[in-house]
Formats: sequence, structure tokens, C-alpha cells
Amino acid sequence: MTAPTKSDIWRKDRDHLLHPYTDFSCFREEGSQVIEKAEGMYVTDQDGNRLLDGIAGLWCVNIGHGRKDMAEAIAAQVMDMQYYNPFGHSTNIPASELGAKLAALAPGDLNHVYYTCGGSTANDAAIRLVHYYFEMKGQHRKKKIISRDAGYHGATYVAASLTGIHGTKLGFDRIGEDFIHHVSAANMYAKPEGMSEDEFCDFLVDEFERRIHQLGPDNVAAFIAEPIMGAGGVLVAPKGYHKRMYDVCKAYDMLYIADEVVTAFGRLGEWFASEAVFGMTPDILVCAKGITSGYIPLGATMITSEIYDVIAHPQCEGGVFSMGLTYFGHPVACAAALKNMEIMESEGMLGNAKEVGPYLQETAKSLLNLPIVGDVRGSHLMMGIDLVADKKTKAPHGAGVSEAIFKKCLDRGVIVRPVGDRIVISPPIIINREECDMIVNAISESITEYLAEA
Ligand code: PMP
Repeated sequence: MTAPTKSDIWRKDRDHLLHPYTDFSCFREEGSQVIEKAEGMYVTDQDGNRLLDGIAGLWCVNIGHGRKDMAEAIAAQVMDMQYYNPFGHSTNIPASELGAKLAALAPGDLNHVYYTCGGSTANDAAIRLVHYYFEMKGQHRKKKIISRDAGYHGATYVAASLTGIHGTKLGFDRIGEDFIHHVSAANMYAKPEGMSEDEFCDFLVDEFERRIHQLGPDNVAAFIAEPIMGAGGVLVAPKGYHKRMYDVCKAYDMLYIADEVVTAFGRLGEWFASEAVFGMTPDILVCAKGITSGYIPLGATMITSEIYDVIAHPQCEGGVFSMGLTYFGHPVACAAALKNMEIMESEGMLGNAKEVGPYLQETAKSLLNLPIVGDVRGSHLMMGIDLVADKKTKAPHGAGVSEAIFKKCLDRGVIVRPVGDRIVISPPIIINREECDMIVNAISESITEYLAEA
């Protein structure tokens, strides 16, 4: 990479923007890398460095960057009708079309959609819908939610409370008070030595059931889980876990919320992963990111007809769901989602993820030969690589190492994501085998160079 020049934009950004997950203390010195252009699998920064995007922007640019047909669809909708209020009995064409399309593609009878501005607000909507549903059923005490350690569910206050990643709550002492509780992450890499996958699954399910009893089944309303934990480190649960957790939910009259913000729209080779990959249909399914491939912000919370029939019952007191987002069913965002899904379909992108994803998983296993790579895991186009100080004890290597590897990969023209002691990969679903090799080679060379310098 050429040495970065400090542009006017770089200064404006440094002086005025509050970037998320950015260490303000060193930001004043270092500022940001300004990304100026993006096309297909690549982004280009202001210094002209062309970088292979191994993280799809942030798990979202599934169809790839810079598509003209997306720009045209978005522009066409702006010209037709860019916004009108969605409250009461008013709607627009793309929101209606998209609702029907999502209902047709989603598993089971997840037939009703609440639109939001992204994943966090979609999870907030899920919790509000859960509370509203039990209110309408007269179960006024059924409000508690069980989430998981290492789960990531977003940045708004409720979504951050659902999140179980240490550090996201620092500086926020009121997060998660009272109604949100966490059970263990389904982290196979952290399962006790000698415990089989099935035994670990038993342990997790038992723990969940015990927690429900502790909190009181009459108080516990729902369980929320990502099919594969993303930001928590790409943690793949033991076989059968989701279905068994779902069955426990049903035994205690609880709702199962699947947070498919990352896993939907092709990342695991399917429109939605819950049923197709994990064999169970949730009561509520939350998605965002890949729904528009990040071209425009949009989230969606889908509920079953059973839940809808309760909250839409004419006898319901109150009668309205009062979560009123100005941008519910935003026509431009919904038009972008429709075009995005049309592109995925016509260009066979889900098939590509199904074909190339396993290749990426297989190829990356070679990284296990490196002395600090403790685990390489994932599914299809989601991958987590644990960096450890000791392969036997699995002691983490220390957060600094992933940042160092990230920078060395950048020098090699590849973007990966450092998350704590891990490297995460989640490329656009249009990736080909050669580009998978480029990512794996960049990581391998970067780790080797890091070790040589240590
Ligand atoms: N849920 C999951 C599983 C996510 O990965 C994210 C974002 N990374 C969110 C929710 C929050 O989505 P957003 O940032 O669009 O609000």
C-alpha cells in the first residue's frame, strides 16, 4: 500500500465524526481510511489502494458493490414516489410487493412484516411485538427475554441489552436491567475437554430450561438467537441445538426469535437459514443487511400468522401497535430490496454461495497449520479464525494480534475483520474460488510475517 495522504475529507471526518467501535484516544492521531469507490468484490480508498472486500462492507453487501441496476432501481423509485407516511391505512407499492415476497420465501407461516431502519430496530420491534402479543393474550407478566452470551443483536438500547458481548455495555450501567437474561453461548470451541458435541448440546439445553424455571415460566416470554453467532466470533452451535431450544420454548409457551440479520439472503446459501439449514421455523424472524445488500438501510421483523391473529384480533384492547417508525416500509429501501432479491435470483447467487462457501471453509482449514491459529470454523460465507497463545489451553493470543493481522492483510490488498482475538470473514456472496484463495493466502502470509517479527 502507498503511504496515506491526509486529505481534506480525512480531516473533516477526524474532526467531526463519532465513529462506532472506534478508540477515540488514538483516532485523533490516526483518523480514518477514506473509502471512495466500490465495485464488485473491491473497494478503493482515497490513496488509490484497491482492496478485496473480505467482509462485504459489514456482513451486508451480498450482491457486491456498485451495481448500476441497483442505482437505477433506486432512482426510479425516487422519481415515482420517494416517501409518504406509512401510518394507519396508507401504504406504497414496493413495501407491499416486498411484504408478499418475503412471506412467500420465509419458512412456515411467517406471513407478516414490520419494517424498520436496520437490524437493531428490527430486534427492538421483535421484543415490542413479543410484549404486545402476550399483553393482548392477557399474560401481563410474560415479559422476560432470554438471550445468549456472545450474541450480537444491535446497538439501540434494547438490542444492546440483548447483546451478550462483553465490552458493548461499558459505560452503560442501565443496559439489560431486569427483563433480559443471558445463557451460555453455543461455543463448540469452548466446550469442556472430553465432552462430546451431543453432551454439550444437552448441557446448553438443560441450562436454558433451568434458567426458565429460575425466572418462572409465567414470566419468560421469548428466546432470541442468531442461527450462527456472527460478531460473537462465528460460533456454530452443536447439531440439533436450535430445534431443541425451539422445542423447549414451545414447552413453556415462549416465542423463539431468530436473528437472521447476518445469515439471511444468501450468506449460508439460502434466503433464510433457520429452516433450510437448522430445521426449525421460528415464531419471529429478524433480518436486515443483505435484504438490500447495504445499498439502502432496511430491516424487517417477520411474525407468524398465529401471532398476527392475536394482535390483530378485533377484541384486542388498545388496538394499535404503537411502534411508529417514520421510515416503516420506506419505498426507496423496499424498491432496493426487491431489486436486490431479483438480482440474487437471476444471477444464481445463492447457488454460488452454496458452491463456493464450502470451498472457502475447506481451503481455510490450512490455516490450522500455523502455530497461533486455534480454530477455523463457520459455514458457507461466514468464517471465524481464533488466534491463540497456546493451542492446548486455547488461551487467547490477545486482542492486539488480530489488529496487527488486519493491517498486514490490508498491506496485501485484502480486508478482513479483527474482532477481539479473532479474524472474521464474510465476503460478498458473488465471491469466486480465486478470491477465496486470495483471502486465505493474505491471512496466512500476514500471520507468518507477524510471527517472524515477534
Ligand atoms: N443482529 C445481528 C446478528 C447483527 O450482526 C447486527 C449488526 N451487525 C445487528 C443485529 C444490528 O443491525 P444494525 O447494525 O443494522 O442495526
